[in-house]
Formats: sequence, C-alpha cells, structure tokens
Amino acid sequence: MNMKTVYLDNNATTRVAPEVLEAMLPYFSELYGNPSSMHSFGGQVAQKIREAREQVAALIGASPEEIIFTSCGTESDNAAIRSALATQPEKRHIVTSRVEHPAIKSLCLNLAGQGYRFTELAVEKNGILDLEQLVKSLTPDTAVISLMWANNETGVIFPVEEAAEIARERGIPFHTDAVQAVGKLPIDMKKNAIDMLSLSGHKLHAPKGIGSLYVRKGTRFSPFLIGGHQERGRRGGTENTPSIVGLGKACELAGRHLAMENTTVRRLRDKLETALLSHIPKSRVNGDTEQRLPNTSNISFEFIEGEGILLMMNEYGICASSGSACTSGSLQPSHVLRAMGVPFTMAHGSIRFSLSVYNTEEEIDFVIQKLPAIIERLRGMSPYWTSVSQACETE
Ligand code: PLP
Repeated sequence: MNMKTVYLDNNATTRVAPEVLEAMLPYFSELYGNPSSMHSFGGQVAQKIREAREQVAALIGASPEEIIFTSCGTESDNAAIRSALATQPEKRHIVTSRVEHPAIKSLCLNLAGQGYRFTELAVEKNGILDLEQLVKSLTPDTAVISLMWANNETGVIFPVEEAAEIARERGIPFHTDAVQAVGKLPIDMKKNAIDMLSLSGHKLHAPKGIGSLYVRKGTRFSPFLIGGHQERGRRGGTENTPSIVGLGKACELAGRHLAMENTTVRRLRDKLETALLSHIPKSRVNGDTEQRLPNTSNISFEFIEGEGILLMMNEYGICASSGSACTSGSLQPSHVLRAMGVPFTMAHGSIRFSLSVYNTEEEIDFVIQKLPAIIERLRGMSPYWTSVSQACETE
C-alpha cells in the first residue's frame, strides 16, 4: 500500500529539511576531520562549526560565544538547571511550573531526592501562568527559575520575558525551555533578561540528537559534561559536526520561514480547528487560543479515547498525538491537561495537531473530510456517548 502520510505531529519531531540534509552530508564523508586538530583538514571543520554557531545565534539575537552545542533539548535543560545549582551551592530551591516537559519536571523530582526543594507554579484553566504566583514563590533560597516559553502539548505561551525581569530584579538566574518556541516565535535575546535558553534541532527541521543551550554573557556556568576543552570548556565531547552543521542550516531556514509560521501555518491551523469544532459536537480547544503557538491545536473530543482516534486516523496516514510524544503509551491523561483542570472525559479524548511549513491546504482538507466520520464511528461504540446523546434527545 502506498498511502500518503499527512504529518501533523511536528511538536513531536519534524522532518529534516532537504537543504539541511544536503549541508550535513559532506561532514559524514570527505570532511571528517576533528575540529580540534592542528591540521587544516580539521581546521576547515572548525570553521564550519563557527559558521553554524553564528547561524544559531542569529536566529535568537544572541552572540555566537553565548551558544553551546549539546546533544538535545533534554541535555540543555539539565545543563542549565544543574549549572545554576552548582554555581550557588548555598541555595536549594527551584521554581518551575506544573506543565513543564519531563526534561525539567523529572529532573526536579530527581533533584528533590538529593535534598533540593522545588515549587511547581499552577496554571489557569486556559494554561496561562499568573506572574503574581511567581513573585510569591520566590525565597532567598531560590537558585533558579525555569519556565517553558511555549507548551509542547497545547502551544500556550508563557510570559517568560516578564518573568525574567522579575528574576533579574531579585538576582535569580532565569532559564527557559524554548524547545517549542524557537523557529515559531520571534526571539531576540538582546531585548530580554533571560539568562539561559534551551533549544532542540529536531523540532525545527534539523536532525534528532542535536541541541543548544544559550548562556548569556556574564552568567556563571558550570559544565554538565566534563571532559575536553570543546565549547570553550563548557561542554566536553568531540563535536557532532554533521548535526551541528545541520542545526546551523535549520536555524538559517527557520529565520527565513518565521513570517510563514505566523501567516500560512497559522491560517491552516485555524482552518483545521474551526472546521473540526463546527463539524464535531462536544469538541473544544484546550488552552488559550490567543497566547498560543501558530502551529498547534489541542482539541478534545468528549467521551472517546484519544488512542482510538489516533489509530483510526493512522488508517488514513494521518499522524498526530494524544498527550505529548513522551507520555503516549500511557493511558493516563497528560499532566498538562490535568494541571489545567480539563475534565476527565475531555482529557482522555484529546488530540494534538501540530503543523509545519511543509503542510499543504490539501492535507488539511483531507483531515477535515475524514475526522468527523472517525469521531462519529468511535462515539457509536462508546457506552458513555450513547447514554449522553440519549439523555440529550429526551431533554
Ligand atoms: N522541552 C520541550 C518543551 C519539548 O517539547 C521537548 C521534546 O519533546 C524537549 C524539551 C526535549 O527535547 P529533546 O527531544 O531534544 O531532548
């Protein structure tokens, strides 16, 4: 069977852009030198890494020296938090939110086992963060604040630039997990007070297994991976040259595509969302629809299981997620939707559609055509739905 894939799962991972792959290929074959070598064979690789660092820095308005290449978003998150703790050993308190990715959430739980304390700020029903709560949570013992820029499941955007100001006034280092924001939202580190920022290649059309941590000049930093002098002593390990080159190219492309995220991608996302909400009863969007990434729509279809919807969409080649990629495989409603107080019957039937600049109008039309019938079929099999719809008819 040669079915076309309709890929609407770009918050889980993205396709590698053809230009990115092309830029990477020579660094697997003829240009294999070690960038730390004294010979010019390695030197030309070091030069390419410098270029990639400039490309990553340019996307977020940073200086190249503020960019550290890592192996993924998770490593960047871990490195940022551990550095803040290591450079202030007298402080033992971390402030974060209830809806963070496991790269922060599980790390905090792990650190709690080592004697650290952490506060998870609650979010409102629409997933938005109230900054007054942040102010109240801070103590003289707070070593770091870490808040995600945009949520991977709902796309809801946190006011991280305002939060970073609050942190700076109190001398507390501020980290943001911007893995879902970079490439989708304009970011200019020259205009904010954020000290550390994590990004990940595979969310913006670079390969998996490459990430970056931005560390503002002047921020004290203690390396997570201790080894050679690579990354100016801030991250040991021979550089993953092909992936670094790929990340640089992907950041260059993302800069060029940024406007499209807000126009083409947003329009397609809105078209999909509006059509599904109007054609499917008892469906609703999870998360604020204004303070949100332009590519993400998290919709609950009441009284059915998200997993059932995913399986039936899969028969048509349509890829999306229920919960986040990292929590799928578990039938627990996601911690993000639970933190937002989404009722159980709604949380279970939630699907995250996440688009990219590679999606087309035809693909969106295809999903709009197929999904209402899928939901109707599943609801026809659901005892809850049958009793609810009968009750509605007799009302
Ligand atoms: N943070 C957020 C918000 C994410 O969405 C992800 C990936 O899903 C990560 C961190 C982890 O990134 P990586 O897969 O590169 O480790």
